[in-house]
Amino acid sequence: MKSPHNSKQFIIVEGARENNLKSVDVKIPHDKFVVFTGLSGSGKSSLAYDTIFTEAQRRYLQSLSSYARQFIGDLDKPNVDKIEGLSPSISIQQGSLSKNPRSIVATVTEIYDYFRLLFAHIGTPHCPICGEIISPKSSQEITAEIAKSLKKDLKFKVLSPIVEGKKGTYNKLFDRLRKEGYTRVIIQDEGHEPIEYLLDEPINLNKNNKHTIDVVVDRLIMRVNNKEFKSRLANAIETALKLSEGLVKITIIDGPTKTFSEHNFCTECGISYNELLPRDFSFNTPYGACPYCKGLGSMLAFDEEKVFPDTSVSIYDSGLRNVGGFGTIGSYSWKMIETVAEHYDVDLNEPINELPKEFWDKLMIGTGSEKIEFKFNREEDKKDTSHFSWQVNRPFEGILNTMQRRYQNSSSGNMKEYYSQFMTEYNCNSCHGQRLKKESLAVYINGKNIWQICGMSVEEGTKWFDNLKLSKKEQKIAR
Ligand SMILES: [Zn+2]
Ligand SMILES: [Zn+2]
Repeated sequence: MKSPHNSKQFIIVEGARENNLKSVDVKIPHDKFVVFTGLSGSGKSSLAYDTIFTEAQRRYLQSLSSYARQFIGDLDKPNVDKIEGLSPSISIQQGSLSKNPRSIVATVTEIYDYFRLLFAHIGTPHCPICGEIISPKSSQEITAEIAKSLKKDLKFKVLSPIVEGKKGTYNKLFDRLRKEGYTRVIIQDEGHEPIEYLLDEPINLNKNNKHTIDVVVDRLIMRVNNKEFKSRLANAIETALKLSEGLVKITIIDGPTKTFSEHNFCTECGISYNELLPRDFSFNTPYGACPYCKGLGSMLAFDEEKVFPDTSVSIYDSGLRNVGGFGTIGSYSWKMIETVAEHYDVDLNEPINELPKEFWDKLMIGTGSEKIEFKFNREEDKKDTSHFSWQVNRPFEGILNTMQRRYQNSSSGNMKEYYSQFMTEYNCNSCHGQRLKKESLAVYINGKNIWQICGMSVEEGTKWFDNLKLSKKEQKIAR
């Protein structure tokens, strides 16, 4: 319905003189996207904020009861002859974003919180090792799978894993198991072979050792097409799953053991994964962050070319002693370097670019599993500043790794800043810049993980969400 009054279709401003405005008249249409442009200082903000918004705000406040107004106070009327057609207004001002390296568009706008919810609830988890879909399994499915995988006449035990690598004597647990009618448990002390115990004999565990305890639920011999066997196996599995809250181990006598789970389980790799919660998709918490880069997606690492910009000189003249905290030549760090050179029969006085490449790589990133005999004696060498004599046979970690360790252990901001000039930012090797732990990155919705969605442009993202095909159940959850 068209209104006869102009003020229903326009905001009409007459004689605006706020700040530097020179008695401006303007008609602004309602329900339109209107932009003020102009040189800086031409009065855009004076008109929008100081005149139109201020007047709208003033009128709105005036509509409140005098009781309410006493708490707020009255606003001054802007310097304007007349404004018509105003409605209650809100003003949104441009804010400055924090330069936190952890922020992305999706986190700043908080859309990411919805993505996390969505992925935790309708994402399909995949095994981060082999890429197969992992899914919860029913006790019947587990039973069928076990029955299928075992050969006829094979002897096996159905176990319920109830303690996994924890300290304690577990006397109360054993009492409970006895009462419930179980007769055997298999206990493995950390670093030892598992031992089977009878529950009607006393079991004395060292409370300071870590134990893994499996309850023996049943001992069976594989039968094919045997109803009685089938139901006994199903019962045992059901019982084991209940006792351990979702896990059952099948151990073949004198053979391997395989774990099955009602929870997220990769049948290919035999690994169970925890159910993922929204927090597992946050790279700002230890639950979700890639453990290597702590959720930053990149890592600062020492850059050989920055540490040794001039390779035509020997390592002694390279400036390394200033760079890496290696101290004066003759110090313990330098002796380590010299010992490595001696071990490979290399003369460190040669220019760096004439040293054997293989040796240089070992010097930089370590000797791997190859051990080197380091032997230092303060008595023999007055220049040694390490103040002790020692001898040790171990791999060399590499100069760059030594520096990395010192950098990481340093709590001094100045020191870190100093070191950083010799470092380059690399994509994290583990998450490849995707910032989340592997398990979270292996959750997909329509073939995309959460990070791939964050990598889309707004246009691509909108299209993707518009075309998202979900099952009825997923739609319900997603809504
Ligand atoms: Zn797998
Ligand atoms: Zn990472």
